[in-house]
Amino acid sequence: MKILVVEDEDTIREVEKAYLSRAGFSVDEASDGKSALELFSKNKYDLIVLDLNLPEIDGINVCKEIRKLSQVPVIMVTARVEEIDEIIGLEIGADDYIKKPFSPSVLIARVQSILRRTGHEVIETGGLSIDPERMIIAIKGKEIELTTTQFNILYTLAKRPGKVFTRSEILDYAYDETLPNDVLDRTVDAHVKSIRKAIEPNPKKPKYLLTVIGKGYKFNDELK
Ligand code: CA
Repeated sequence: MKILVVEDEDTIREVEKAYLSRAGFSVDEASDGKSALELFSKNKYDLIVLDLNLPEIDGINVCKEIRKLSQVPVIMVTARVEEIDEIIGLEIGADDYIKKPFSPSVLIARVQSILRRTGHEVIETGGLSIDPERMIIAIKGKEIELTTTQFNILYTLAKRPGKVFTRSEILDYAYDETLPNDVLDRTVDAHVKSIRKAIEPNPKKPKYLLTVIGKGYKFNDELK
């Protein structure tokens, strides 16, 4: 996931970049509107964090230009509440707004929620539905309880049916922290067992989460 951060104040831009990178995003930065649009024309971004008051071309016009070309999610950042009203009134097509000063964790939460909202749709297959935004799993409309890690594992596999994931890949996607290798296999197997117990009609003969012997797991790509 690649994010463009546009901010003329160096310290703020550096903080934004540091936190977004730490959250796993790849980050490009621009310190004025003109170079932001240049970068935008040459690269593909998943989201743009855009300061309102910028030299060269201001944030409103940068957003308008972007909207002529793309529906990429844009989060506007501004120091003044009045400006938020103005942005909304102008309907320039921003997806969200953050008021300065903001804590970096608020920025990360907003970015993640917008990416979930805009980038990921509800998966529906073989009677199972997975809603990543609301983190809800349902079997034939009946909600199922899973832990966050179990949800992440199931969602990761279900997004790419048929692709075989190794245990280490599964943990990379589903976990924030690094686990020692000896814990790893058992951990994934234990999670898969719990997921199967929760979602499979017959956990001993799973139809959603399949074991690929000697490799790992995959989500069944032949469900009807
Ligand atoms: Ca500024």
